[in-house]
Amino acid sequence: MIQLYMPLNFIGSVYRDIKQGLIDVEEMFSLLEVEADIKDRPGAVPLRTAKGEIIFEHVDFAYDKERPILRDLSFRVPSGKTVAIVGPSGAGKSTISRLLFRFYDVSAGRILVDGQDIAGVTQKTLRAAIGMVPQDTVLFNDTVRYNIRYGRPEASDEEVEDAARLAQVHSFVMTLPKGYEALVGERGLKLSGGEKQRVSIARTILKSPPILILDEATSALDSMTEREIQTALGQVSRNRTTLVIAHRLTTVVEADEIIVLEHGGIAERGTHGELLKQRGLYAAMWNRQREADEARRKLADIEHEE
Ligand code: ADP
Ligand code: MG
Repeated sequence: MIQLYMPLNFIGSVYRDIKQGLIDVEEMFSLLEVEADIKDRPGAVPLRTAKGEIIFEHVDFAYDKERPILRDLSFRVPSGKTVAIVGPSGAGKSTISRLLFRFYDVSAGRILVDGQDIAGVTQKTLRAAIGMVPQDTVLFNDTVRYNIRYGRPEASDEEVEDAARLAQVHSFVMTLPKGYEALVGERGLKLSGGEKQRVSIARTILKSPPILILDEATSALDSMTEREIQTALGQVSRNRTTLVIAHRLTTVVEADEIIVLEHGGIAERGTHGELLKQRGLYAAMWNRQREADEARRKLADIEHEE
């Protein structure tokens, strides 16, 4: 989600000056009017969230009219379930998450959250209901504690630390000289990508939104870090409606449904087992990734021996 990250980087740097009064990353977008195209409609009502069911109903979308990106896309994420979107780069996966956040309006069809068309609800309440764990977390130039508590400013220290434990980042924080009071971000300690991501997961656990969007890291994390992040993501998505944009197929094996997106349409759908049996696109992606993993492991072994 390039578009999201660039403004976030920018926001990260100016954040210090404007942090008074801000509650939420999503709200920052609207305050800074980074995505000024979409406004609340006249008569927009607050979203009434129940269990967080998501429905895409015959959705068409194009950034510009000449070039359709999504075509007649329909799927449902039942409350508490996990749907994974996989597919080649440029297929439209991140676009789906941008539409759910309503950074853009659909060209045709509807997106419903708990039965309400998101085009008719206030952006503030929509975005408050959705937690996003991006692949590139930007931390604020503040303490670890502040960065996690940002998910729910009124949370107690104990709640912050419980969230950090679930996100598999507490023991790392305890190794920092100042623990939760350590300063991070550009002007503080530089955390690794995996550490930042776990801080972001802790923040989301604390926010406890009914709906989650996870955009997984593409970069080859070492397998230890990857396992820790998987455990953390498993914690945050448990019993929560979750849309995972998955790059590593090992993480979608457990999804209730996997949607293989190609050229903006659904090429295949089913569970991991069903899709392997079809021997189609998904099965090919799975085998390719397994081979790549195998090659990487062998390489690591060789390097280890030297
Ligand atoms: P994926 O996440 O599957 O890699 P995206 O949803 O990011 O794909 O993008 C789908 C297509 O839309 C790509 O061809 C991309 O170049 C195009 N696209 C993405 N953002 C914009 C934009 N803001 N304006 C025009 N085209 C865009
Ligand atoms: Mg993408």
